Amino acid sequence: MRLFNSLTRKVEDYKPIKSGKTSIYTCGPTVYDHVHIGNLRTYVFEDTLRRVLKAGGYQVNHVMNITDIEDKIFARANETNQDFKTLTAKYEKIFFEDIAKTGIDLHESKLIRASEAITDMQELIRQIPNKYIVDDGIYFDIGNDKDYGRFVTLDRRHEHHRINNDEYDKEQVADFALWKAKKPSEPSWDFKIDGRNIEGRPGWHIECSAMSVKYLGQPFDIHTGGVDLMFPHHENEIAQSRAATGKKLANFFVHAEHLLVDGRKMSKSFGNFLTLENIEAKKFEPMALRLLFLQAHYRSQLNFAWESLSAAQAFLQRLRSWADLVLQPKLGHKRTASINYQSALKVIKHSLSEDLNTPKALSMLSLLTIDAEAYGVDVKKLKPLLAEIDDLIGLDLSKRKDITPEQKQLILQREEARTSKDWSKADQMRHQLKKQGIELNDTDLGPIWYRA
Ligand code: AMP
Ligand code: ZN
Repeated sequence: MRLFNSLTRKVEDYKPIKSGKTSIYTCGPTVYDHVHIGNLRTYVFEDTLRRVLKAGGYQVNHVMNITDIEDKIFARANETNQDFKTLTAKYEKIFFEDIAKTGIDLHESKLIRASEAITDMQELIRQIPNKYIVDDGIYFDIGNDKDYGRFVTLDRRHEHHRINNDEYDKEQVADFALWKAKKPSEPSWDFKIDGRNIEGRPGWHIECSAMSVKYLGQPFDIHTGGVDLMFPHHENEIAQSRAATGKKLANFFVHAEHLLVDGRKMSKSFGNFLTLENIEAKKFEPMALRLLFLQAHYRSQLNFAWESLSAAQAFLQRLRSWADLVLQPKLGHKRTASINYQSALKVIKHSLSEDLNTPKALSMLSLLTIDAEAYGVDVKKLKPLLAEIDDLIGLDLSKRKDITPEQKQLILQREEARTSKDWSKADQMRHQLKKQGIELNDTDLGPIWYRA
């Protein structure tokens, strides 16, 4: 496997710390609102990376945080007059629904809410030597940190400027809050440190350092997120963790590029965002959105357009019709695929192992569907191929719903009627199937059913 490592800005051979195992940390959602489809693009990339590593034989140990303590959460909870827990529980639930619809598999992942890791964060803050306590909280002193400035150019004139916001941009390089002193409008926790109690709440960056190292060790293998997280979030995670233990945080940082709208990053703050609800309201499937994302390389920006989603939906339909060939009760076996499935799978796996080249892998899939239309399929070998493709890219092609045994029987009887030229009986059976939502296409491969 080769992956682009943001730490070295090069595509590198991926070598895990422990042979056969891979530890991955992912920055998860801030649950104050619906996630937008830009967020989903990054989660789909991360899911595909895990799938490919797992299919490549690695035992994947994945950890993701759920940010339920953050500036935007408290602002929204106060605006809407509700407890922050009520707000975050609602959007956490919607997040998991959206994730599942988009084929993202978190079943084997360890998910941790920030509010449940307060003591781990406090322990880490205690270990950081270059921190200082002032009225509004505890700050990380970047001035003493020679390593700070990996993802941003550090202007030393900023030394000892302080920033209290959870999010800020490149022009605001400054000491950042590890812990924020209590504000009347925010929940707070006790924090005994240096013989005092500083009631307050953690800053945003500390949660990922605390959780990743606790569950994956330090260093761990791969840290993922969208490119916007490189600074300040990942810069700060790296700095805190190194300061606390002297060790690097992770060997690889892999970042996904943005989903754009009209050339601009899709973002809540620009108001140019779409949610899965908007996609479904226009009768597109979340799986078509997943396919659209996979059609672009994760390190390229992708401009969202409804026409592209419509083309992805049509491509998904083609893939499904191909997958459904394994469910056809009477497929002509005289003709079979001209492409060797093992070679095709090799090409797909090779493409994915080259810095997750999903567009190339999909081109091979597209070729397979064209080949099937021209030459037919090898049903026995197609079944396991579909399962392997699902393991790699998660389109659920091997989980298609079959028709009932009675419906299959009807298709076979209709074929018999056609062979004995009993057209009216054959028509009657076709009509019977149609009433049940099953249409037939008489092709030279044999009758092919599809759901109307
Ligand atoms: P957030 O909830 O803002 O922390 O974002 C969750 C994930 O989505 C992070 O990995 C972000 O980097 C990523 N993200 C945010 N906006 C976009 C976008 N427009 N396109 C792709 N990924 C994004
Ligand atoms: Zn993070």
